[in-house]
Amino acid sequence: FLADEAFDFAREYYLSLEKELGARFVQQMPLFKIFNNQEQQDDWLQKANSPEYEQYLSKEIKHFSEEAIKNDFGTAEVLNTFLLNTQAFLNATKLFLVENASYRNETFHSDEVVLEPDAVHYRGIHAKKIIFCTGYKAASDKYFNWLPFNLCKGERLNIEFESFQLEKAISNNVVLIPEDNNYILGSTYSWDELNEEPTAEAREELSLKFQKISNSKFQISNHLAAIRPTTIDRRPFLGLHPELKQLAIFNGMGTKSVMFCPFLAKKMCALLLNGIDLPSEVNIQRHLKHFSA
Ligand SMILES: Cc1cc2nc3c(=O)[nH]c(=O)nc-3n(C[C@H](O)[C@H](O)[C@H](O)COP(=O)(O)OP(=O)(O)OC[C@H]3O[C@@H](n4cnc5c(N)ncnc54)[C@H](O)[C@@H]3O)c2cc1C
Repeated sequence: FLADEAFDFAREYYLSLEKELGARFVQQMPLFKIFNNQEQQDDWLQKANSPEYEQYLSKEIKHFSEEAIKNDFGTAEVLNTFLLNTQAFLNATKLFLVENASYRNETFHSDEVVLEPDAVHYRGIHAKKIIFCTGYKAASDKYFNWLPFNLCKGERLNIEFESFQLEKAISNNVVLIPEDNNYILGSTYSWDELNEEPTAEAREELSLKFQKISNSKFQISNHLAAIRPTTIDRRPFLGLHPELKQLAIFNGMGTKSVMFCPFLAKKMCALLLNGIDLPSEVNIQRHLKHFSA
């Protein structure tokens, strides 16, 4: 759904933003899928030969020279990938906003929003509209809690190896991505206990999954947990509040915010500035039956 358009747009957007902000956050990063058995390899090749997937999936089966990686059934490359260093991206974006006097480091309180028919006021800011981009917190916000979120906790590790080096990302139930001087190993998916606390269970799960890819010894240098703003139909939530047109939401990016945000932000601007309808797949109007005034 919207993947081709969103993907191409995202890469161009991040690259042009790097130039505009004078910062680096996009990196070429080949990604290889490791197969566990012949059936997986066959399925991949069948997909790779279909017009829908041929620009994303390589038809070439490779075996890694790195002995540390178990790849008896081979690997194949996911094509046209790139890595966004989200922390560097957010740092550069924040700096830009601060320099342009457009950033406040404070907790936002919905209760303090003052609405007028065509305006919204909040702590000295006067605007036509306000856009709620509060991630999973929107699920408990008074204006948008009616939307059917299906929040999903995720955890990831940063790991270091003594004698193992990899310059590509690999995936097989988990993804291992080189970043700076260590590696990201992720992620878990849990719909219970929705909090931002790292758990021993997730650490164990990720470690065991890594051992299926490699016997290399590693040390955990960091462990992060967060809540993804996933939605019941796995599609983003964009649009205007059904009754309070001064309030808008940009949310529900789930597991794919890096890919979807630039493309959908453009669609959101088109709605807010020119009244152009959003793609129906992402418009919150599809969930109006959940809303009661
Ligand atoms: C382990 C893990 C791995 C992931 N991997 C990927 C990946 O590889 N690729 C990908 O695209 N996505 C990935 N995601 C998903 C991605 O992180 C989310 O889709 C994305 O963060 C959603 O962005 P958002 O801005 O909507 O929400 P958030 O990132 O949650 O940002 C919302 C922000 O609003 C702030 N906020 C909320 N309420 C208030 C308030 N009242 N006052 C002030 N500030 C407030 C929060 O502090 C936060 O900074 C992953 C998520 C997890 C947990």
